[in-house]
Formats: sequence, structure tokens, C-alpha cells
Amino acid sequence: LAKESGHNYFQFYVASIDREIRERKQLEKDLSVALNSHQFHLVYQPQINLETRRIIGAEALIRWQHPEKGLIPPDDFIPVSEMNGSIVEIGQWVLDQACRQAARWASDGMPLRIAVNLSAVQLRQDSIVDDILDTLERHNIPAGRLELEVTETSFMTNLEEAVDKLKRLRRAGISIAVDDFGTGYSSLTYLKRMPVQHLKIDKQFIRDLLVNEEDTRIANTIIDLGKSLNLSVVAEGVETAEQEYYLAQRGCQLAQGYFFSKPLKPHDFERFVASFHDNIMANNS
Ligand code: C2E
Ligand code: MG
Ligand code: MG
Ligand code: MG
Repeated sequence: LAKESGHNYFQFYVASIDREIRERKQLEKDLSVALNSHQFHLVYQPQINLETRRIIGAEALIRWQHPEKGLIPPDDFIPVSEMNGSIVEIGQWVLDQACRQAARWASDGMPLRIAVNLSAVQLRQDSIVDDILDTLERHNIPAGRLELEVTETSFMTNLEEAVDKLKRLRRAGISIAVDDFGTGYSSLTYLKRMPVQHLKIDKQFIRDLLVNEEDTRIANTIIDLGKSLNLSVVAEGVETAEQEYYLAQRGCQLAQGYFFSKPLKPHDFERFVASFHDNIMANNS
């Protein structure tokens, strides 16, 4: 009997792998037409300065509206697009779109900083620095208005090359943030050598910040590290007033999360900015 059920299990296992491969192939196929079929759009999540309670910028996040499957979250397709290389084209589209939006907002009197996620695969492209600088120029965006979010894995594959490229971007005036800080192979050596200005505490440490002592200590450590290296620290995934209060009094300067706002389409983002700042003025007077 055991042997028989083992056999069944094996068949089931093979069938499920087979299905996974087919689904994956279909996803790659759908992904290959998504860009030209205008199935992507960007949403923007406000980043708040916890001291001044003002919105200082927005992180651009990609969304894929699949014609049959509906909205597919980036965690389900960005890794696939990194593996088949299509992230290079998609990432360039994101950058272009985000800069276009930033230019529009600036001309409407809202000169916000835009943060764009840059994949390790994009950073490996020889032309990436020129591509980014060209995009800024095309949209007439000052480099100081752009922030690039990179993860620690970007530093690992070819450290020298990554240092060199990030330095060139930095010299041009672009700021660099380390995204999901604490989840990768955080190394103080990378931090010392990389021209970064911001650390983003990963949301997994913020979720249970006030219930799990280990998470509290990790968040505290990142905040202190930021202070001693003179990097500003951004908490991501802030969902409650208590978390915000804790982070603010502990000296974390910036935050983003559902407590303030989920990522929004441009029009909703503009309305959010207007009402957020109105509320603050009302509270201050
Ligand atoms: P990330 O860059 O670390 O972005 C933060 C993620 O946390 C976003 O998920 C955001 O919607 C979500 N988030 C924000 N506030 C909260 C909160 O209070 N609670 C919770 N639970 N989540 C919150 P999203 O938009 O699904 O993106 C997931 C990841 O996909 C991003 O993580 C980033 O690594 C990647 N990604 C998104 N857009 C792009 C892109 O344009 N290019 C590249 N290369 N990667 C992207
Ligand atoms: Mg990010
Ligand atoms: Mg992150
Ligand atoms: Mg992430």
C-alpha cells in the first residue's frame, strides 16, 4: 500500500511540476506582449518626513493589468522578467514613465522626489548610467529629483562594477537607497564602499515592530547604523499610528506605508497630497 501511494504521490508531483512549467511559459509569453499592449501602469506611494510631517516624495511601483487574469502583483512577474531579461526594457519604461510624471507634477507646482526600483539585472547593463541620465535629460528633470532603490544583491555579483556605476549616478546628483535593508547579505563593507544616502528598513521588521522584541532591536540597529553612517533611514510598511510614533521618537526620519497611504494612481496621489498638507496646516493652527 505504501508503495502504491508513493507512486501516486510521485505522479501527482510530476503533474504539478508540469503544470507549473506550463504556467510559467504562459506567463513569459503574456509578459512579452504586455509592454507594447499598454498593460502596465505605475502607482505612487507617498514618502513622509516624520519630523515635518510633509510628503517629500513618492515611490513608483509597477502594476500589470492582465487582460484575463486581472491585476498581477510585481512579486509574481518581476523575478520572471529578471530571469528572462525583459526587466531591462520594462525597467526603462518604468523610469521613463516615472520621470514623465515627475515633470508633470513639477510643472503643477509639486516638485516631488521620485524613487524608482532598479533591478540588479538593469544595473548590470553597460549602458545603464547613460540610459538613466538620458531619461532625466529628456524629461528635463534635475538629477536631485530622482532616487534609485537598489537591493543588496545588486552589489554582490560584480562589486567593482556596481560601485563604479552607482558613483557615476551619485556624482550626477541622483540619490541611492538600499531597499529591503536587512533581508539580504547586508555587509558593512558594501555600505562603506557604496555611495548610498538612504537605508530602507524592510517591511518585515516593521510589521511586528511593537510586538516582537527581535524586530524592535533590528529596526533600532538600522536606525542607529543610519545615524552613525550619516544615512537617512526610511521605514517601509508602516501600518499603524503606534508604529509611526515609535519610529519618529526613535529617530527614523522617513516612512511610507498603508498608515499614510497605499500606492495610488497619479490623480488620487495628487488629491492625497492636497488633503494631507491641508490637514497638517489645520492641525498646526
Ligand atoms: P519594494 O520596492 O520593497 O516595495 C514595497 C512594497 O511594499 C510594495 O509592494 C508596496 O505596495 C508594499 N507596501 C507599502 N506599504 C505597505 C504596508 O503598509 N503594508 C504592506 N503589507 N505592504 C506595503 P508591491 O508594489 O507589490 O511591490 C513589491 C516589490 O516588487 C517591490 O518591493 C519591488 O521589489 C518590486 N517592484 C515593484 N515595482 C517595481 C519596478 O518598477 N521595478 C522593479 N525592478 N521592481 C519593482
Ligand atoms: Mg522599493
Ligand atoms: Mg522594500
Ligand atoms: Mg521588496
